[in-house]
Amino acid sequence: MTHQTECKRCGTCCENGGPALHSQDLPLIEKGLLSVEQLITIRKGELAHDPVTESIEPVKTELLKISGKKGSWACIFYDKTRNGCTIYDHRPLACGVLKCWDTDEILKLSGKDLLSRLDIVKEGNPLRERLIEHEALFPLPDLKAISKTISRSSKKTIKKLERINNKDLAWRIRAIGGLNLSVAEELFYFGRPLFQLLAPLGFTARETASGIKLQFK
Ligand code: SF4
Ligand code: SF4
Repeated sequence: MTHQTECKRCGTCCENGGPALHSQDLPLIEKGLLSVEQLITIRKGELAHDPVTESIEPVKTELLKISGKKGSWACIFYDKTRNGCTIYDHRPLACGVLKCWDTDEILKLSGKDLLSRLDIVKEGNPLRERLIEHEALFPLPDLKAISKTISRSSKKTIKKLERINNKDLAWRIRAIGGLNLSVAEELFYFGRPLFQLLAPLGFTARETASGIKLQFK
């Protein structure tokens, strides 16, 4: 078996998910090479794969990632037909550092100097105050604990999650009414709603006249 020493441009890393952004990537946003609609916010407490421990853990610090294609995490900039990156000349730092055959460098970068929403949404932008308020009002519940206990959780717990989710959604409607944000922008500014984060844990969500109803399968 030959030992890999260079990138084969197979695209597996790009299909597994876009990179997290680091402070060195800020100019890409400031120059308009990346827009907030192309990013997804992973809020503190969301469950994600930790490349260091190789396990699913709540993220300790908020991070921003390049969004995934509809229904998957595959990077929106990956063109499968050409096995290539459509923003290769201005791809984020982590993409240039990643060598799947030698992960030392990318592991050293992991979790360091991460960009957060407040690095991008500067003072004077009305959305800055709203996202700070949202974080204070709706911190994420302990998703890891929920994932461990959900199969024996009571209806009361599910109702409580339902209430948090519906209050959050109602707050978003009030806070961003009139700002004409696209769905992608809303997901950047306020993160994914709780019901979406609960889906991988086995919850289903149903829209009703009185809000989202959650059910555990
Ligand atoms: S870094 Fe590895 S996984 Fe990514 S494209 Fe190159 S060979 Fe494929
Ligand atoms: S930005 Fe380009 S190199 Fe980076 S994950 Fe996306 S497609 Fe791959």
